[in-house]
Amino acid sequence: ETNQEVLGFQAEVTQLLDIMIHSIYSNKEIFLRELISNASDAIDRLRFAMLADPALVENDPDFKIRVNYDKDQRTITISDNGIGMSRAEVIEHIGTIAKSGTREFLQSLTGDQQKDARLIGQFGVGFYSAFVVADKVTLNTRRAGAAEQGVRWESEGKGQYTLETIDKPARGTEIILHLREGEDEFLEGYRLRSIIRKYSDHISIPIYMPAEGKDASGEEAVNRASALWTRSKSEVSEEEYKEFYKYISHDFDEPLAYLHSRMEGTHEYTMLLYIPKHAPFDLWSMERQKGIKLYVRRVYILEDTERLMPRYLRFIRGVIDSSDLPLNISRELLQQNRMIDSIRSNAVKKVLGLLTDMAAQEKEKYETFWQTFGRVLKEGITEDASNRETLAPLLRFATTRTGNEEQSVSLDDYIARMKQGQDKIYYITAESYAAAKASPLLEVFNKKDIEVLLLYEPVDTLLVTELQNYKDIALQSVAKGTIDLSQLEDEKEKEERQEKTNELQDLLNRLKDTLNEQVREVRITTRLTTSPACLVVDENDIDPTLQRLLKASGH
Ligand code: ADP
Ligand code: MG
Repeated sequence: ETNQEVLGFQAEVTQLLDIMIHSIYSNKEIFLRELISNASDAIDRLRFAMLADPALVENDPDFKIRVNYDKDQRTITISDNGIGMSRAEVIEHIGTIAKSGTREFLQSLTGDQQKDARLIGQFGVGFYSAFVVADKVTLNTRRAGAAEQGVRWESEGKGQYTLETIDKPARGTEIILHLREGEDEFLEGYRLRSIIRKYSDHISIPIYMPAEGKDASGEEAVNRASALWTRSKSEVSEEEYKEFYKYISHDFDEPLAYLHSRMEGTHEYTMLLYIPKHAPFDLWSMERQKGIKLYVRRVYILEDTERLMPRYLRFIRGVIDSSDLPLNISRELLQQNRMIDSIRSNAVKKVLGLLTDMAAQEKEKYETFWQTFGRVLKEGITEDASNRETLAPLLRFATTRTGNEEQSVSLDDYIARMKQGQDKIYYITAESYAAAKASPLLEVFNKKDIEVLLLYEPVDTLLVTELQNYKDIALQSVAKGTIDLSQLEDEKEKEERQEKTNELQDLLNRLKDTLNEQVREVRITTRLTTSPACLVVDENDIDPTLQRLLKASGH
């Protein structure tokens, strides 16, 4: 044909397809969840676009998704009357992966199918999961409002695809999966229905299949088609909450925890928020994070975690649905909307409340959380002064007491173990756990059996600088100034120190002269037990670890 064009996939796509086809083999059925999720997104986006341009509805106002199968042709077809795609959009969205960090992600894959399956689950398989069950995929689509001209994309998933112009009167997208040999189990109505109910029961758009049964005719909706978050808590089972999480996050695993809460009063809104078990693949990327979908009265508006959650809670996934925001709100207006500010600050409080309860009642679960996201939550101490009092008790640290790198001690644990006469929370910062633990500065603390927090992550230095004290007890670096342990000294120790200072005055003076410009002062210390000397900074100077950090970042 004249208008047919052959194009190559972006290299990453070919690579991803190759790995995916093999690694999610045990979880094949999720292709249907992914394709239905795309269909539902496409309808959501059309509903939103229609607010500005009602003509887009054409003569087709009943939004629906259809799933059909054909035993003879060995095909499954998923179609929607959503927004559709233009030719350029097909090339952009179906032939390339736009996610930042894709290359790094692919490099991180191990070749171990089970591990990779989990990683790919977190990455989000999306449209390409079609190739897990199909050896050829045909996609016919027409953009809403774009006359009748449609485009057909077709590929066997091996490096290239074809594009051609077609006639497509009906708006939206139709995806035809030509099943691989051996995948005929999916050509059964009951099988497809049960997959749809399992993964997509809670989506708000009806999914139709050909009616089945003795005197069946026409088609029937197979899902409940009521948005899960709009139901009351008592109507939603644990299982449904978990499936919904997997649906919105594309995670293979269950969430660690969730909260579902409806606010009534000045503003009405509902939130359903999840804490994942695993870190998403792009947790540390600086890109705008997705993960929280904003709806207004069940119409999808946008996905933007940054506006709805502070950065230190960027791992939260979920849905927020407001009854009061105007439907036609733009991204720009959203930036300065007071209602959004109040929703956001409430959402943060709820999440921190969930974590506080977890820390108190489900210690092990909280440990899992902390190991995965503790480093991110710590950023909250600097980022969110208004919630500092709630955040501080959630912090966990490694200390000289626990003897391992795991961060498990809370500041309250620490305070409960403070020695008689101890009036500070002592910490040391270093570049690694090993360096912190081996520091000669700890000698006297070990000798006196005083616990010291071992801080070794870059965020820690800023954290202690900001926090300064906890429950009116000052945090004190062991590397700073004259540490006054005299309250913990007995009389004999005091005398000894005084004697030594007198005795060694000459030496002190000589050292000071020799080191000249390089030190401010040389003094006798009770800090050390086995090392001969150590360097400390003045009380008001910048912490040495922070100094190194600043230097490294060009300050
Ligand atoms: P994601 O859904 O996470 O963006 P996918 O791989 O599932 O990733 O889909 C890639 C993109 O292809 C979508 O973002 C969307 O732009 C486009 N797309 C996929 N399916 C459809 C569809 N049924 N209708 C319109 N656009 C679609
Ligand atoms: Mg998708």
